[in-house]
Amino acid sequence: MSVVSSPLDLLHQYFGHPALRPPQVPIVEAAMIGADVLAVMPTGSGKSLCFQLPAVALPGLTLVVSPLISLMKDQVDELVRRGIGAAALHSGQTADERRDVLRRAHGGALRLLYVAPERFASDYFTSALHDWPVSRFVVDEAHCVSEWGHDFRPDYRRLADAADACHRSDNGPGRPPVLAFTATATPEVRDDIVSLLGMRQPQVFVSGFDRPNIELGVRPVSGDREKRALLPELIGKSRSLVYASTRKSAEDASETLVDAGIAAAAYHAGLSDTERTRVQDAFAAGTLQVVCATNAFGMGIDRPDLEVVVHKELPASVEAYYQEVGRVGRDGRPAVATLLWNYVDVKTREFLIDKRDEEGGRGDVEPDPGDQDRRRRLEHLKLKRMVAYADGTGCLRMTILRYFGDPDAGADCQSCGNCLRRAALTEAQLLFVRKILSGVARGGERWGRRNIAAMLVGQAEELPEALASLSTSGLLKDHDSKLIEKWIDALVGAGALSSSPDIYRTLRLTAVGRDVMAGRQTTITLLVPTVRVKAAGGGKKKKAAKAGRSPKRGVPATALAPVAKSAEPDEAMLNALRAWRRDEARTRAVPAYVVLHDKTIDAIAHERPRSLADLGEISGIGPAKLAAYGEAILRVLTGAGVPESRSHGVS
Ligand code: ADP
Repeated sequence: MSVVSSPLDLLHQYFGHPALRPPQVPIVEAAMIGADVLAVMPTGSGKSLCFQLPAVALPGLTLVVSPLISLMKDQVDELVRRGIGAAALHSGQTADERRDVLRRAHGGALRLLYVAPERFASDYFTSALHDWPVSRFVVDEAHCVSEWGHDFRPDYRRLADAADACHRSDNGPGRPPVLAFTATATPEVRDDIVSLLGMRQPQVFVSGFDRPNIELGVRPVSGDREKRALLPELIGKSRSLVYASTRKSAEDASETLVDAGIAAAAYHAGLSDTERTRVQDAFAAGTLQVVCATNAFGMGIDRPDLEVVVHKELPASVEAYYQEVGRVGRDGRPAVATLLWNYVDVKTREFLIDKRDEEGGRGDVEPDPGDQDRRRRLEHLKLKRMVAYADGTGCLRMTILRYFGDPDAGADCQSCGNCLRRAALTEAQLLFVRKILSGVARGGERWGRRNIAAMLVGQAEELPEALASLSTSGLLKDHDSKLIEKWIDALVGAGALSSSPDIYRTLRLTAVGRDVMAGRQTTITLLVPTVRVKAAGGGKKKKAAKAGRSPKRGVPATALAPVAKSAEPDEAMLNALRAWRRDEARTRAVPAYVVLHDKTIDAIAHERPRSLADLGEISGIGPAKLAAYGEAILRVLTGAGVPESRSHGVS
């Protein structure tokens, strides 16, 4: 290979790619000019090429520290196949094999040498480093240097010294440039990587975390029964993954789906090898539609065409969640990721974190109590960030991208579950909101949401005296206090209320809140709270979930329900429906009532169906009308302010 060839020529020649991917360009450029680089890119986005191409283009040896022997072997095999001198040094080799690799490195036959981090504990190896002209010191999976990362490796702490011990291939002063790569780096991890690897003015690149074709959603549920009711609906006919936190839960999900006539199987570490292989093969071959897995379902299956992923329980961290979510839609086609969210699952996770310590840590080494404490604190912290995602009212995509520090985290994505549910309020909802705001004002802006909600529903026995006899006490007595609390959260999210940044979370009205309360502002957009679907009375096979309805017929199990139930149909919605009917009638050259009767239009505006199933239950909408107009009507409703949930009945 020629040193004078341009990197682009070498890219064609050795790697067979027509061009670098956009995020790779500045990284390769920075590596070529000898800068220290920290690149944060998701798995599969082409990190390896960012150091392999400079390794081929520049004289000297590129050392690559990698923690996984299997990954090392794969990369080395691939490089050798492409005619590039590469080898690996790790504990899986015999002493003879290791000696042979060292000899080839000495002889200058290698462009890339992959090294397991524990090699740097060997004096023999570190002294050899002095003799090799090293052009780049690459640290793959660099988060392993940080205790904040999900797999801390103490051996990574030696790497700063190891890099210092290297002899620069250009004979310049100091150590060779350090390039660090990772797929998971929260700001804490990133800071650790820079300081613990001794990086100097590193150029930092964070890219590629957005997966715009994946629709992210969080679905609040009341418990296991509701989860079971929802699973078949969320999956439908899609090729899917269900993630569960325990083996039992994975089994349970699989049984539920099989009962609903869906080809599903559980996949976890408790299965025999034969059984696991059988599941993997059937899924790969397409005879199995759904795999219900614990996180044991690692790299085993690599289907690019998965359409749906459902998390039946809260994952342990945002990293873990996003990595599992990332397994769907890799072919670029639309995919849906739904997290079923129940606060009880947080308790299970907390229990799992604490229990691991009681069991004496991971291996057979006596655990150090200080380490245990630190680990536990970190895991609780990560769990908290995951809870913040599940419970948040902000744009879900933005929340994740910000978590990873991706600069593509722009404004609201308008396509995640939260963005889609954020709606302008109807008249009736606005009135409801004004009552809540008045409650906060009358209470003297001195109380948190629980007290305000209790006061509004008139739960006198639970109230501090000061709240028991206000003019707003009992003002919303027909409503559920938990739901009012959610509306309060949504009002905080919409900037109409603020809550104090202490444990009391005292509510105050903002300027917007005052204007809305006083009627000076008549529009406000917020994330309308969701009402939990109560699974209809027992039995997995009940059809209650079919249309995603609450047991009370005709009441959509959605956000709009608490106010919409008693509300008059919204004028804007009626007008939108009538305008659509007029156009439709004109197109078909029939009178308007032939398209839909007034009564039916009224019923639609009143019920506000969110799915074809819901629409089909409205009197006056038979199968033919549903087929002819169903989609169009749902679109009109969405345009008129009722957010439509994608394929799944309700949101
Ligand atoms: P990572 O190390 O980030 O997990 P890889 O380096 O394994 O990702 O790359 C993932 C895939 O993308 C590989 O199949 C690789 O050949 C391919 N790839 C990387 N860079 C390019 C490129 N510039 N053009 C086309 N394919 C690329």
